[in-house]
Amino acid sequence: MTAEPILRVERLSKNFRGLQAMADVSFAVETGSITSVIGPNGAGKSTLFNLVTGYLAPTAGSVWLRRQRLTGLPTNRIAALGVARAFQIAKPFRDLSVVENVRVGALFGKAGPRDVPAATARALELAGIAYLAHRQASTLTVGQLRHLEVARAIATRADLLLADEPCAGLNPTETAAMIDVLRRVRAEGVTVVLVEHDMPSVMEVSDRILVLDAGRLIAEGAPEAVAADERVIAAYLGTPEAEEA
Ligand code: ADP
Ligand code: MG
Repeated sequence: MTAEPILRVERLSKNFRGLQAMADVSFAVETGSITSVIGPNGAGKSTLFNLVTGYLAPTAGSVWLRRQRLTGLPTNRIAALGVARAFQIAKPFRDLSVVENVRVGALFGKAGPRDVPAATARALELAGIAYLAHRQASTLTVGQLRHLEVARAIATRADLLLADEPCAGLNPTETAAMIDVLRRVRAEGVTVVLVEHDMPSVMEVSDRILVLDAGRLIAEGAPEAVAADERVIAAYLGTPEAEEA
């Protein structure tokens, strides 16, 4: 018997006026996995996260957290059910310290204002920024801010973390540190869905990869299988259809 997936996306579509940003996409995310979503710019990766977190309403289809339908719920309700998103552009309270920023996540998260000190300390540890606890957020580097963003998300006690390009703009050392953070988060029982462009990191950390291209799910599977998939290679390299076959 296989465990129930934590997240299910069923025949999800999203149109922006003329543009189909998400086209009849269905998949499930296994509980406790790291699942990466890859695809060229404009493929619909961030739109997918917006649809899961309730920032956008789908044109058709639905999103489920275990047996709970998320589609139609407001964003704060979805967050309270345990879905957290770490944004590509981290927006901390710049005048607050790192620990104060993380405490905000703990206060407004899934468990509410319960065990806030413990949730805050755990999040700082997992994100590898306990040593920065009393620094003002405005003094952090871009890499440190990304870790703060993950810490804030974890502090909510989410059991599903959506990370949208957490390594964008980071150097190789910082990228490796962020990938380690995601591994630790997963080891603590949090399921991770990752959007990331750095292919070596994606290949190394992912249990499963979903590939979007122009709003369609063109491939899914284990990293090695996806990397060898001709449609995936074509989507990335822009191989003209005439040159295939
Ligand atoms: P990705 O994150 O994969 O780079 P996005 O999901 O951001 O791609 O965008 C997918 C497509 O949808 C793009 O063509 C983008 O311009 C369009 N899009 C995204 N959000 C909106 C929006 N709020 N209004 C109109 N078009 C949008
Ligand atoms: Mg995006």
